[in-house]
Amino acid sequence: MFKKVLIANRGEIALRVIRACKELGLETVAVYSEADRESLHVRFADDDVCIGPPPSRLSYLKIPAIIAAAEITGADAIHPGYGFLAENPEFAEACANSNITFIGPTAEQIRLMGDKAAARKLAQKIGVPVVPGSPGPISDPDAALAIAREIGFPVIIKAAAGGGGKGMRVAQDAESFAQAFQLARNEALGAFGNPEVYLEKYLSRPRHVEIQVMGDKHGKVMHLCERDCSVQRRHQKLIEEAPSPAVDQELREKMGDAAVRLCEHIGYIGAGTVEFLLDEDGQFYFMEMNTRIQVEHPVTEMVTGFDLVKEQIRVAAGEKLSFTFYNQRLRGHAIECRVNAEDPSRNFQPCPGTITAFHPPGGPGVRVDTHIYAGYTVPPYYDSLIAKVIVHGIDRAEALARMRQALDSFIVEGVTTTIPVLRRIIDHPDFVAGTVDTKFLTKAPEVLAAAQ
Ligand code: ADP
Repeated sequence: MFKKVLIANRGEIALRVIRACKELGLETVAVYSEADRESLHVRFADDDVCIGPPPSRLSYLKIPAIIAAAEITGADAIHPGYGFLAENPEFAEACANSNITFIGPTAEQIRLMGDKAAARKLAQKIGVPVVPGSPGPISDPDAALAIAREIGFPVIIKAAAGGGGKGMRVAQDAESFAQAFQLARNEALGAFGNPEVYLEKYLSRPRHVEIQVMGDKHGKVMHLCERDCSVQRRHQKLIEEAPSPAVDQELREKMGDAAVRLCEHIGYIGAGTVEFLLDEDGQFYFMEMNTRIQVEHPVTEMVTGFDLVKEQIRVAAGEKLSFTFYNQRLRGHAIECRVNAEDPSRNFQPCPGTITAFHPPGGPGVRVDTHIYAGYTVPPYYDSLIAKVIVHGIDRAEALARMRQALDSFIVEGVTTTIPVLRRIIDHPDFVAGTVDTKFLTKAPEVLAAAQ
């Protein structure tokens, strides 16, 4: 086992990883930018190193600064969290070159799955269904239009290197295609330094259902059932739950088998998520794989009872998967709401600022993963996620009731947050009925319009 783990991240996930390390008896190192001096991850870690000025590219994305911090403090492993360098194969390689264990998959696995067009091809090759689309990346607008016509409009144009909802454009018809194609390529180039895009048929009412997987260095891969992340704004998740109201045991096994097959094929190591779209008649399609821990991992922890972050650390150290999970049966129901410092009435514009009052919800089955406190200033440089409220109930009805009371008693003052919108979604008849798809918020604008 490792002795000292450096956490190459900030915010709630840095605290989450520090907790896991402490439970495993490991020392921790925090790295921070000049904007994060007062952050709790710096306070809770055994050691800390300032790695640069506030912008991420000068600090949390700066590979040499992070490797140097690990070497100075004697860390023998690095946990990347999510975002920043978590899916950067060069970072995984830099760790290996310095004899530091990267807590995650190999650089080759990250590279393969990071190219969404290549991952799609691989899924297809091993018989995992994919949404109809282009055979690979495509750069010529006329050839792309011909393929779009063939698969039928609407189509979605996606960045091969994509993530975080960036570089994706929907074209409703042939007339708007050329412009959407160019915009997607420009956005992909700007966000990822790579203009490659590919096409998929744009499904009309899909649900987003993803499978949590975990693999060890002894060739064992298992899945930990699904999460439903259909409540999204601008193709980004707001609320996640497990199990999915749309998935029965038979479908769960089918989707789980497909995810495990894909991971076994590449000998996947560590925690990962295989994302699918599920259409109205129960057909599922591979979308992409994320080769890291996800923001929404706590819902899986609540319904399985496993600590995914501790397991990531154990398998990175060479231990065998410790889970024994019979019949893929989940316990109860869990829901997570992402609380962002954003103004929903202004198209979810980030609202950094100082927290003047803070009281987190509590009680049975309520978990809050957060790094904020009264007096903390949310800096403008990073993601606007300030807290995750996760509830667990004996069934979905109890989880919903718990989420209602949790959001009602969550006090965050000083910055505008998404709490009122989340609260209205939890009460929306479609969400209560468990029938929402990824277009839900575009069809229920009243949920957003009535903000504060
Ligand atoms: P990113 O990696 O940027 O998050 P994803 O490929 O995971 O992008 O897609 C994010 C979301 O975009 C999905 O959850 C879904 O809501 C929507 N989406 C992606 N592909 C399609 C598609 N072919 N049809 C309909 N919606 C899609």
